[in-house]
Amino acid sequence: MSLSVLFFSTLDVRTLFRLMSLADFVVCLLLLGYRETGTKQRLIRRFVCARVLHGVACILISLRGDISSLVSVYVANVTIFFSFALEVSTIVDTREHRRGVTRLLFGVATLGSVVFVLAATTPGLYVGYAAIIISALFGIAFAALAGDGEGSRLQRIIAGFYLLVSLAFLMRAYAGFGAGMGVFDAPPALSLGLLVMFGYCVGAGVGFLLLLKEDVDRRLLVAATIDSLTGILNRRAFFEAARERLARAAGRGEPASLLLVDIDHFKRVNDTFGHPAGDEVLAAVTERLHRALRAHDLFGRVGGEEFAVLLPEAEAEAIVVAERMRRAVRGLTTPATSHLDCSVSIGCASIAAGERATIETLFRRGDAGLYAAKRAGRNRVVAAGADLATVEMTAQMAGMPAAPRPLDGAALSFANEEGRGVPRP
Ligand code: GH3
Ligand code: MG
Ligand code: MG
Repeated sequence: MSLSVLFFSTLDVRTLFRLMSLADFVVCLLLLGYRETGTKQRLIRRFVCARVLHGVACILISLRGDISSLVSVYVANVTIFFSFALEVSTIVDTREHRRGVTRLLFGVATLGSVVFVLAATTPGLYVGYAAIIISALFGIAFAALAGDGEGSRLQRIIAGFYLLVSLAFLMRAYAGFGAGMGVFDAPPALSLGLLVMFGYCVGAGVGFLLLLKEDVDRRLLVAATIDSLTGILNRRAFFEAARERLARAAGRGEPASLLLVDIDHFKRVNDTFGHPAGDEVLAAVTERLHRALRAHDLFGRVGGEEFAVLLPEAEAEAIVVAERMRRAVRGLTTPATSHLDCSVSIGCASIAAGERATIETLFRRGDAGLYAAKRAGRNRVVAAGADLATVEMTAQMAGMPAAPRPLDGAALSFANEEGRGVPRP
């Protein structure tokens, strides 16, 4: 048995329209039961509204011959045009609101309705005009979805389906105009469009729900991993990503370094200018620090005014980056803090090529470096791991102010206020 016989020879178009409306109402029932508390509720209502309109129009078409043709032809087709405009604009809006596309779709539906009412005067023309208008609506939706460069795979599949509907209805229009056949005639060129549309009616609700879910998943991921004030990774996400990167570096025998950055005397900023101004400074410092980094550096906010950076380099290169960060925040002011003297202290901990350490160990060592930087007078970069004599000697060589108290931790300072690097002995 050939495919054509299997699908088309016994196709009862009237029943097909009734089945489409049944699919529409089942989808609506399920969607109305879906609880979405966020901003997506409006989209769901729009989609349900479109499907109800489509379902009603399909019933009206299936009653052709039994009810007034004014209702079964004109009311039904105009309703179908607007239901598709509403539905595909909702799908396009699910990812990003695009007013221009919605306007275009409703413009085509309105113009199409006027043309249909004025020009569709015979059964062949009903089919031809209706099919060409539906083809145009799906063609626009295809272009809008396919043109979104950042669209997901699901979005591309839906766009592909829209293209299929558009082409199948173009073929239906050609057959309708050419052979003058009516809506219940079922040669393959006419019924292919209806069969594709039936598949669409059954699958559209699932596609729409998956699109919603994809968007909600994306937002949840951002909320779970991104710090809302600064827009960079939060502590948990930083640790997770850093753990992975360290394991990869250890596996390849590559070095890695951790920088711990803490804003100096930040409490004073809050005390002097207020907490909201402090928030502004935090965001501005983050931006400056970020600009001093490269795209592949891992950057996160690991505490109130503390940041961490994981670099794929050994200590000497990491110190250069740290110094660039330290300098980047100097002179920073914000509209609310005009006379701010902003600086950061940075602790650096590294593992050499072939060495292994957990992120927790690296963090403890970086913290020791940071602590030493604070005790040595702040606004400086200190690498963990050197002895006291070396620290004092290199601090002197770098012309830095003397530490307020002798350092008792193991730390080595590499950079002074002018940013002159001091080579590690
Ligand atoms: P030090 O140089 O020793 O680091 O001094 P500090 O004042 O920066 O350190 P301390 O730990 O005493 O104070 C940190 C301050 O950071 C206290 C806290 O109110 C403030 N802070 C933490 N998180 C936020 C935040 O999200 N917004 C604002 N505005 N302030 C914050
Ligand atoms: Mg601080
Ligand atoms: Mg702190």
